[in-house]
Amino acid sequence: MSEELATGDAFLAESLRYVKGVGPKRADVLEGAGISTVRDLLQYYPRRYLDRSTVTRIADISDATGSVSIVAEVLVAGSAPGRGRQKRFEMVVSDGSGRIKCVWFRGAAWIGKLFKKGDRVALHGKPQLFRGSWNLTHPDFDRLDEGGPSLDTGRIMALYPGSAPFERIGLNSRSFRKIIWGLFKEHGLRLRDPFPESIRSRFNLMDGRVALRAVHFPKSQEELHAARRRLIFEELFFIQLMLARLRSVRIQRKGLVFGPRGGLSARFERDVLPFMLTGDQSAAIRDIVADTQSGQPMNRLLQGDVGSGKTVVAVAAMLHAADHGYQSVFMAPTEILAEQHYRNLISFMEPLGLQVRLLVGAQRKANRREILAELANGQVAVAVGTHALIEDPVQLAKLGLVVVDEQHRFGVMQRAKLLKKGDAVHTLLMTATPIPRSLAMTVYGDLDVTVIREKPAGRKPVKTLLRSEKGRTEVYEQVRRELAAGRQCYVVYPLVEESEKLDLKDAESGFAQLREIYSEFRVDVVHGRMSGAEKDQIMERFKAREIDVLVSTTVIEVGVDVANASVMLIEHAERFGLSQLHQLRGRVGRGSDQAFCILMADYKRSHEGQERLEAMVRTEDGFEISEIDLKMRGAGDFFGTRQSGLPDLRIADVTRDQAILTEARAAASELIASDVALQAPEHLALGLYYQRFYREGRGALARIG
Ligand code: ADP
Ligand code: MG
Repeated sequence: MSEELATGDAFLAESLRYVKGVGPKRADVLEGAGISTVRDLLQYYPRRYLDRSTVTRIADISDATGSVSIVAEVLVAGSAPGRGRQKRFEMVVSDGSGRIKCVWFRGAAWIGKLFKKGDRVALHGKPQLFRGSWNLTHPDFDRLDEGGPSLDTGRIMALYPGSAPFERIGLNSRSFRKIIWGLFKEHGLRLRDPFPESIRSRFNLMDGRVALRAVHFPKSQEELHAARRRLIFEELFFIQLMLARLRSVRIQRKGLVFGPRGGLSARFERDVLPFMLTGDQSAAIRDIVADTQSGQPMNRLLQGDVGSGKTVVAVAAMLHAADHGYQSVFMAPTEILAEQHYRNLISFMEPLGLQVRLLVGAQRKANRREILAELANGQVAVAVGTHALIEDPVQLAKLGLVVVDEQHRFGVMQRAKLLKKGDAVHTLLMTATPIPRSLAMTVYGDLDVTVIREKPAGRKPVKTLLRSEKGRTEVYEQVRRELAAGRQCYVVYPLVEESEKLDLKDAESGFAQLREIYSEFRVDVVHGRMSGAEKDQIMERFKAREIDVLVSTTVIEVGVDVANASVMLIEHAERFGLSQLHQLRGRVGRGSDQAFCILMADYKRSHEGQERLEAMVRTEDGFEISEIDLKMRGAGDFFGTRQSGLPDLRIADVTRDQAILTEARAAASELIASDVALQAPEHLALGLYYQRFYREGRGALARIG
């Protein structure tokens, strides 16, 4: 019996193609956005709701106003002058009580096509005062077509997330409401609730069928609230169920048991290490050593801000493995980083008589074959590399430890593959992205976490300066002074995926200009289109001080360590994400000299852009930065999407919904306490839902545990 039959929900798996109001063309576009089946569409939850109580009158906007929704009519719309990418789209709208101007600097071309005089529109954003009048910069918007329900009827109107492809084929909130309403009419509410009555009443959950209807077509704010709570609970519950399960499997698994720390470890700290470990570094090593003696496989996440010295901790862990005759694998997200680690590891490990090898994609075949043989016969203690390390032919004689650097940069599947290399093997994941507790509970619920907060002694805080075009000459002079004093400088340009060509032009014309300005210094460029070998060569020359100014796109973002670099100059800083800016800043301030991070930013920036820049100037604390970032972007975007391993949440927001998360967690661990419970007849539907959830890979990260 198929699962769908068992739950009586067969139509949920049907393609949207035959659904009324969809058709083949729309079905294709929807599928491109990940909405393929009836179920996907029903779970395409509204992003916002409008009713009289949630709409602000333009006349009521004041300094105290935060984000607002307004409903208004377009009075004037048009492109404002400007060159190429500078072109912007503006429109003035009125709601009868007053007027407000809306401005878009990016995407002006497609947004401009959407609006004309007389259109009714809902706009959402935080008004800013500009030259004495209120503006909305890059507001979210929903077009409210003629014939749509009027707010005056007292209805609550669901608004769905839109996109350029949707708009192009006329899919807007109104179409979604119509199509989904049709589904409810045709199929009635023959949905089966996965939660048995016992769980529903205990956690005060609305009936699942009612909740799904109410989230799209709420009859009142109270009903909407209860519906959302129920659906959020459900989503978080299944993730927690999976994490609880993985944890229970993991603690039953047997891990390799290493003995106490041995001679290599002692000699490393005594003879090789050029500095004293910080207290936090020592504590992290103690955690790792304890894990490797516990009898269970280590599954530890090492969190530490950029520059906190995670690499040395990893080295200590690998030496500990070597002390007990085990090999280690050290995986980095880029070739540049793998090369850098390789050189570091050689300097730390060869004096101790250990062999280190580098394995990256760009190597010659013969070379690679030789290295593979050396790994397989066990003579090599540590293999450093990129994802080339997890390709199938790589076999190690006695693998004991896997270290993944900058783990958030790896695809979930890549990590999973690596971990398959040995069941009892210990894993150490490292990340410079501090994760707020709330999120850690969801994403890393089955990992142990160690945090390094302390930075190595003698570091001066980086001075962060915000400058505009007007200050450019002065900025160049400041850079010149640093260069004249023998220091090096990074100049970074943003990389925007849609227009790789343009960006390259930015970096390249910047490069040409800087070469003239700093003609007495050596200026070079590195960018994403170069081959791995080319990039490595340039990075190597920068490290060897053969290059003074390194112009780049963001390829230098993670991990690169050049202590003599004292200036990080970021062009178009308003276009970078907050954690990216923080990562970039972390590239300087690694020596004992005063370092500078200079943010060059256009005045035409969105409200969020401004907040990001201000946060950068205000604080250098990675945890604070990540809290702000999380708050600004919401958990869904926090790490980027699927790449991050963050479960793909459709309605829950782990920062906002912490209370529900705690309840869902309690419910899940109670249920998992005995596996039998899931097979009980009253839990049949729940078990089937769980299986589907798991199959869909929505908890892919957890699956690697
Ligand atoms: P991250 O945590 O960002 O990966 P790294 O491991 O690259 O940081 O370390 C940053 C720099 O700090 C390196 O140059 C490293 O040699 C140095 N470092 C690490 N630990 C210490 C310490 N205890 N004292 C002094 N310098 C240290
Ligand atoms: Mg690092």
